[in-house]
Amino acid sequence: SKVKDMSAEVVDSNPYSRLMALQRMGIVKDYERIRNFSIAIVGIGGVGSVAAEMLTRCGIGRLLLYDYDTVELANMNRLFFRPDQVGMTKTDAAVQTLSDINPDVVLESYSMNITTVKGFETFTKSLTCQNTHSSKHFIGVDLVLSCVDNYEARMVVNQACNEINLTWIESGVSEDAVSGHIQLLIPGETACFACVPPLVVASGVDEKTLKRDGVCAASLPTTMGVIAGLLVQNALKFLLKFGHVSPYLGYNALKDFFPTMSMKPNLQCSNNSCLDRQREYVSRKPERDAAAKAK
Ligand code: ATP
Repeated sequence: SKVKDMSAEVVDSNPYSRLMALQRMGIVKDYERIRNFSIAIVGIGGVGSVAAEMLTRCGIGRLLLYDYDTVELANMNRLFFRPDQVGMTKTDAAVQTLSDINPDVVLESYSMNITTVKGFETFTKSLTCQNTHSSKHFIGVDLVLSCVDNYEARMVVNQACNEINLTWIESGVSEDAVSGHIQLLIPGETACFACVPPLVVASGVDEKTLKRDGVCAASLPTTMGVIAGLLVQNALKFLLKFGHVSPYLGYNALKDFFPTMSMKPNLQCSNNSCLDRQREYVSRKPERDAAAKAK
């Protein structure tokens, strides 16, 4: 009778018991902690909406959703949104679906452009504010996921996270829909988005000229689903402290190739908040060394 009968646990209809199995099987130390975390998702399109659904099903405590767009019929080649939601703001439509799936998650809808002066102010405030609408008390957010499709919005997420000293994970899918990536950005510790600008930006090409009028970008729910999965997997590892969080993970769908690499911060970065965070990181080296020794 040394063998434990697991059948009673397996047939349990509560979805949390399957998530809690991660703890029983020794993967995660304390899965329950997921209920205390807040994640901000910027861009509720092909990647962001799927990431939001995965986190909702995982029992995340609170999700803050940002997008300026409304649901269109043209979005139906992707996952998540439904035809009856056409015309709704993407953030409201997401809150509608997600609260049905898991009413325990505290959801906040921000239908706005984060790159305007007012939008940036609201965005940064929301990342540090206390949530006053719920019985649970959340202060600030623990992680930002960037799921936008343009350089300007990514630079704004970078600015906000460098100022607040907040870790974020950037994601992207290529215009031809057959590759994508995720990148972990810890202010002061890893390269920020301004430390190593993308090649097109470094070479001075205006992003708008790359999108030809009338030529529609390709999109596959598969590639976007894979990137959303990699993004949330690494977000869970980061928050619940298990496994290894990839600093950069690429996905080439044609070859099923997943390149990885890591990037150090640029000492000559053009972003002043990044330089401040870099100085702080260097000054904390004795603390890190002592902690490593104690282990
Ligand atoms: P398409 O543009 O091809 O119709 P999409 O708009 O859904 O598709 P995705 O790449 O799937 O594009 O998702 C990116 C999401 O990021 C979009 O929903 C878009 O509205 C949002 N987004 C982009 N820039 C901003 C911004 N500055 N502020 C808020 N949301 C943004």
